[in-house]
Amino acid sequence: MRSSRLLDLIVPQRCAGCAAPGVAWCTWCARTLRAPVPVSRPGLSSAYALAEYRGAARRAVLAYKERGRRELAAPLGRALAAALPSIRAGPVVLVPAPSRPAAARSRGGQHMATVARRCADSLPEATVVPALRLDGRAADSVGLDANARAANLLGRLRPNPRHRPPRGVPAVILDDVITTGATAAACTAALRSIGVQVAAVLALTATT
Ligand SMILES: [Zn+2]
Repeated sequence: MRSSRLLDLIVPQRCAGCAAPGVAWCTWCARTLRAPVPVSRPGLSSAYALAEYRGAARRAVLAYKERGRRELAAPLGRALAAALPSIRAGPVVLVPAPSRPAAARSRGGQHMATVARRCADSLPEATVVPALRLDGRAADSVGLDANARAANLLGRLRPNPRHRPPRGVPAVILDDVITTGATAAACTAALRSIGVQVAAVLALTATT
């Protein structure tokens, strides 16, 4: 991370979506993360995404997650915050979808937890609770089909005993991309297992 920050001082910043100079995420690309659209997946109810996983939105997610563009956490969080009231008004607990510990270490932290905190910055009734954790044994899901992915996650995605959500406040799970929906479904099941009402899953993007 340190070297990429140093690089920022030397190389002018460019938009993660369209490479326009001088900004991390330009206003034109910001328009690609708009009103939440329902996402339909087997076994998943109340799931929404701000954009399809392609183009500028996909490039922003990848730049943030895989290429150390940490400054994108704020605009991505703001985009989720702008969308959230149309899905769930009033007090809400934001639960970031967890990454594997090894992936989080290489990325400098749980990337969706950072986005969730930036999201809560502009939502006075939202609280971030990292209520879920992903067991280190979970294999990377890349290349697995839907069934293998679900089996891989089942039982490895658990409630985090150190971070229990407050009772009686509905939760919204935040994720970067919904693909098969297996992660979102596993997150929902894990929260319900400890009595948390899951109001929705809200993702930055979803595959078509
Ligand atoms: Zn742009």
